[in-house]
Parts: sequence; C-alpha cells; structure tokens
Amino acid sequence: MTSFKTYNFKGKKAIVRVDFNVPLAKENFEITDDKRMQAALPTINKILSDGGSIILLSHLGRPKNGPDDSYSLSHLTEHLQKITNTKVLFADDCIGAKAEKMASNLSAGEILLLENVRFYAEETKGDDSFAEKLANLGDCFVNDAFGTAHRAHASTTQIAKFFPNNKMCGLLMEAEINSAKKVMEESIRPFTAIVGGAKVSDKVLIVENLMSKADHIIIGGGMAYTFKKALGGDIGKSLCENDRISTCRKILSNAEKMGVKIHLPQDSIVADSFSATAATRVSESDQIDSGWTGLDIGPKASEKFSRVIADSKTILWNGPMGVFEMPPFEEGTKTVANAVAEATKNGAYSLIGGGDSAAAAKKFNVDLQISHVSTGGGALLEFFEGKILPGIAAIER
Ligand code: AMP
Repeated sequence: MTSFKTYNFKGKKAIVRVDFNVPLAKENFEITDDKRMQAALPTINKILSDGGSIILLSHLGRPKNGPDDSYSLSHLTEHLQKITNTKVLFADDCIGAKAEKMASNLSAGEILLLENVRFYAEETKGDDSFAEKLANLGDCFVNDAFGTAHRAHASTTQIAKFFPNNKMCGLLMEAEINSAKKVMEESIRPFTAIVGGAKVSDKVLIVENLMSKADHIIIGGGMAYTFKKALGGDIGKSLCENDRISTCRKILSNAEKMGVKIHLPQDSIVADSFSATAATRVSESDQIDSGWTGLDIGPKASEKFSRVIADSKTILWNGPMGVFEMPPFEEGTKTVANAVAEATKNGAYSLIGGGDSAAAAKKFNVDLQISHVSTGGGALLEFFEGKILPGIAAIER
C-alpha cells in the first residue's frame, strides 16, 4: 500500500473521496455541523502544500431519483473555500465532458468539488464503468471517507482498482483505522466496552465479537431492559425485544464461561411517559412498575459504571445510557462521559464511536478530552463486529 504521508503530490491531480455528508438546514441549506469537512482538512492541506491539486468526491444524503438540489454539494462550495482558504471550483456533474474539462484544466493549489456521486444509481451499485469514469479524472486516489468505508460503492471501493500503484488512505482514514486497531488488537487491560442505545438487535454482533477481547462490557440504554427481562426481571413498559431474549441469555452465559464481566444497570430513572415533562422516579431496573418506562440508568448504576471505567486502561464507548436528548434522562450518559474523560486523563486510551455517543460527548463538553472521537457510525460498528470494510480492503489489496 502506498503511504500517503510520504507520497509527493507535486504536479498530481489527486482524486480524494471524502465524507462530506454534512447536515444542512432545510430553509437555506446552511451547514449546521461542519465536523466532517473539518476532519478532511489535514489530508487536503498536505496535498495542496505538496503542490498538487484535488478533485473531491463525496455523497450527500440519500437522493432517490437522480439530481436533486436539496442534496447538491454546491451548497458546500463557499464554506469549503473558506475553511481551506483555497479556490474551490464546482462541477455540477461528477462525470461527463464538463467534469473532464474542469479536471484537466485544474491548476496546482486548486480544488475541484464534484457533484454528489449518489445522483447516479451506479454509485451505490458499485458499477465498474462508472468508477472508471471517475478514476479517469485524476492521477492517484486517496480514500479519506471512513464514514462510508463499510460500503462497496463505486467511489469508495471499485475506483481503487484503477490505481494499482497510486491508491492510499488519507490522514483521517489512517487515524480512524489506527484508533480502532489500538482498541481491538492492541488493547491494554483492563479493556472496558460500554454499549448502549436503543436496541439489542443493532448491537448483538458487536457485543458477541467484543466477548473475546474485553474484560468488562457495560450495557446501558434501552437495550439493557431486554437483558433484564431475560434474567426474569419486571421491566414495565421499557423497550424490550422479545425475540432477542434468548440471544441475551446466550450472551450472559457465554460471558460467564469466558470470564467477561457484563454490567447491567442495577437501577433506572423511570418515567410515566416518554416525555421531558413526565413524572419520574428511581426504580430497581428489574422491578419497574407496569406503566413505567426506564429511560436512563439510575444513580447506583452510574456510580458502579464509573468505578469500572475508572479502573480501565482501554475504553470503547458506543451508544448512550439513556434518552440523553431530554434533560431529565441525561444524567447517566453525562456521568459515563465524564468518567471516560477522567479515565483518559489518568492514562487510559478511549475511543468513542457512533453518531449518538459522539453527540453526547460534545453535549457534555468532554469530546476534546477523549483519545479519539470517531467520525464513523456504521463503519466503526462493522469494524467492531469483526467485518472487513470494503473501502479499506480495496486500498490494502
Ligand atoms: P442507537 O442509535 O441504537 O445508539 O440509539 C440511540 C438512541 O437510543 C438515542 O436516541 C436515545 O434516546 C435512545 N435511547 C437510549 N436509552 C433509551 C431508553 N432507555 N429507552 C428508549 N430509548 C433510549
């Protein structure tokens, strides 16, 4: 694999696949969070400072029927120009005569942003001839889109084969891979995985795969209640996936056999409705009255989880401990966020991944105190499930 850091981009037109799938305000298409654009800057800056030019490929949203202004990358041009302090040209089609002409006229130090690759159905189908048309626009290929590395799409995966000696991972991609490997393959013990969020079904594979790696698995959020029910508890109206109860039992018994400690919340903040103004009280998580719903971990659980986290040397966190978007149910997630930040300060390596956990870390102002906050949601989950990510495999091949 070619090394991005040592590659000299002088005089080269680099095709860079980025993940500029940023949220836009409905009324005026203003970017409401430019984190994904900022994350690509180190890669962009290195190519430009070498004396190269850049052809940027990205998707935005999930357009269904071809070109659609609400998914147009043209809304990003001005902001990109501002944050790169560089002239940014925009081609309103990612392939075809116009894109070809603009790419061939591109001068060193310039950026050409191409229109949303998903305006072509060929992109998500992973179509080879579409990938080849994109590939023909430049001299080398850099994949910096970790967020879509789990998709075998034309611009993330198939395109790489047209650059057998000139394909590489960008700096963001490299940082994401290194961080995920540090946790999964080089973890310093004790290794604690914190898994939360709404559903067991979304997280079964990750919990199963972590079983052979982690010393402790903390389970919080809505998914904890299916485990509580599997253990015979009363969980009231809390989230429960009845078809996953046997899976939960299997996970618990495997954990015992493998010496992995699973921590479930002893108590919960329960509410009489799913609302920020609901009546609330603390309840044991396995004795929730009928009609009440567990919407956050309780104080005893918060304290216990914090102690486990404080004793850890490697920490992975995916998924909130409760409905942290509503203030009455944010305390558990906030306590865990602070505990992870504190452990990091004391020398632990911490990785937070998944949109909601990253949002929680930001909300509770600890994002800058975490070793690495991943930009990948689905991609990171699939990595932790033990799957091979096609976007990365295509570069390493
Ligand atoms: P996920 O995308 O699976 O990580 O789930 C994140 C979502 O789970 C967040 O929007 C939370 O509000 C929600 N969530 C967390 N805990 C609970 C709970 N106890 N009951 C219902 N939803 C929850």
